Amino acid sequence: MTSYEPPRGGSGGPAVRVLGPTVDDQTRCFHYAGPLDVIAIRFHCCGEFYPCFRCHADAADHALSVWPRAEFDTHALLCGVCWSTLSISEYRATDACPYCGTGFNPGCSLHYPLYFAE
Ligand SMILES: [Zn+2]
Ligand SMILES: [Zn+2]
Ligand SMILES: [Zn+2]
Repeated sequence: MTSYEPPRGGSGGPAVRVLGPTVDDQTRCFHYAGPLDVIAIRFHCCGEFYPCFRCHADAADHALSVWPRAEFDTHALLCGVCWSTLSISEYRATDACPYCGTGFNPGCSLHYPLYFAE
């Protein structure tokens, strides 16, 4: 298994690591490796970041659980370009990173039910 550390150390934020078969340092994985696939997600079940639910299924030894609405202020999304974290509420309300402006894949919204309680 590989994991990537933030490309710029000492930026002041908490250390973040992304588990699973990432293929570059912007958290793309071999399931979703398009130019917009730069989001990693912290899973409710284990508190670890993975690039996508398929990575979690491949690498974790347990079934995933979704974030309940009461915890939507948790910073569970990671922009793989600038390594800033977004809360679930922030992420669901935007289509681009508020910190670096990178557009997020609009197709990800199709997968919301896999990660977040509706
Ligand atoms: Zn998990
Ligand atoms: Zn993946
Ligand atoms: Zn960003």
